[in-house]
Amino acid sequence: MKYREQGFPEKEIHDGQIRVAHVYPGTYREAMASIGYITIFSRMNEDDEIVAHRFTTDSPFSIEEGLPLKAYDVIVASVHFDLQIPLLLRYLHMQRISLRKEERDLPLLVGGPAVWNPLPVSRVADAVFIGEGEDGIAEAIKGIYTDKKGYKHYNVFNTWLKNRARFARHDLSYRPPAVVAEESAYGKRAVYIEPSRGCNFGCRFCLIGWTKRPRRDRKLSQILEWILEGTENGGEKIFFYGSDLLGHPHLKKVLEVLARLEIPFALSSMRFDRIDDEFLEILRTNKTRTITVAPEVASVQLKAFINKNIPNDGLIELARRAKKYGIKRMKLYFLFGFPNETEKDFIALKELRDGIEKAGLMPAPSVNPVIPKPFTPFQWLPFAGVDYIQKWNKWIAKNLRGDTMNPKRAWIQAILSVGDEGVGNVLLRAFHDLNYSHWRKAFEDEGIDPEKYTKAERETPWMDYVDTGVNEKFLWKEWEKAQNGEFTPPCHERCSLCGVCFP
Ligand code: SF4
Repeated sequence: MKYREQGFPEKEIHDGQIRVAHVYPGTYREAMASIGYITIFSRMNEDDEIVAHRFTTDSPFSIEEGLPLKAYDVIVASVHFDLQIPLLLRYLHMQRISLRKEERDLPLLVGGPAVWNPLPVSRVADAVFIGEGEDGIAEAIKGIYTDKKGYKHYNVFNTWLKNRARFARHDLSYRPPAVVAEESAYGKRAVYIEPSRGCNFGCRFCLIGWTKRPRRDRKLSQILEWILEGTENGGEKIFFYGSDLLGHPHLKKVLEVLARLEIPFALSSMRFDRIDDEFLEILRTNKTRTITVAPEVASVQLKAFINKNIPNDGLIELARRAKKYGIKRMKLYFLFGFPNETEKDFIALKELRDGIEKAGLMPAPSVNPVIPKPFTPFQWLPFAGVDYIQKWNKWIAKNLRGDTMNPKRAWIQAILSVGDEGVGNVLLRAFHDLNYSHWRKAFEDEGIDPEKYTKAERETPWMDYVDTGVNEKFLWKEWEKAQNGEFTPPCHERCSLCGVCFP
């Protein structure tokens, strides 16, 4: 299928090249909004010995050549969200690719945040790239292509060898081309830009915060070149991705210039304490109507538990100021399902929501259960449970008027997030759909009690296979501090010696 798009690498195929099928488990529109997917795709194609073509799950054929998966030498899949894992398996199955690695000649290399705990996919994938792929992906493809079962690389977990892999961090010297698709998840002809990577704040639930730490900023010149190239490729809107975008030393200036040039932009989310009047003026010029912030919780005790301290009165005051600059709506990300949570914590969310409304903005909460993530202090957090989420979802819909998550899907997500090889076996039985009773039956058939994955202080076998650089004792100390209601300062205020920068 031919899409209208510009800036993608166009490469002629030569004999002897390794032909890579690069799968995104999602639609074309979603893939074209994924900087991670586009970055790896471009990086692979820069290597003379590799030619990579794109596959998305809304078509069985490659975008570039219209060929099926079986026509390629290696499959690479970029998996960003837990529930994309069963989707990937469904896609491979539909293309008649054997799922079990020992029954398949075609090597499968997977990467992305959802598989940094590689154990649930270790029955299917031959290898898992751990960490940021820019520097090592081409080498990993060549290695897995020539020596699937014996290939060793310090950033790659080979599922046959079960070696320990180290998390790869990139210095951001590389940027992908500024590709522009006619249609993508966040609008028409959008250019997606990543000004920085990682985060210094250490929120205890956040996988990206704990694995991609410390924060790294791109050079101003690189961001400007990226934007310029995007507009030359027909880009009409710039979308900035990142955890703490306004923490970038030059981004505000860039946004000011874009606003003056009447090039519309949007930001994935902002830390409320970075939004001053000067920035609100930039948003007014940009005709921004919605700001997005993620306080997550509203009560003092939960702020300390998650290590994120955004003051409610500060947010309400921001809403009041923002209204004067033409902002109409505040999108709010909330979390719930903490073990020490009480009704008071939900009431605090409601008071915050109502306070924002009274200040003149329309609150738009998105309220999700917290999913325990590997390699974070909350890898020991219990999952709240389907009944509990169901009960509070009703309350949330009525009192917060917010979006909620299907509790049974949240359960599957939690299990995939902190799963082991046993979950890998369940996955092979249950990947066909996200039906809760099918998954429970698959656990029963495997003779595994799923409670093992949802209870507090579960086992953490992924720590034996992956080294993110963060010391395990440090993570445990953070888990204890959560329970004692103690904060840890961000890296830029005081380094806590987690192990990443000073091993
Ligand atoms: S070593 Fe210090 S500065 Fe580096 S990521 Fe860890 S806490 Fe942050």
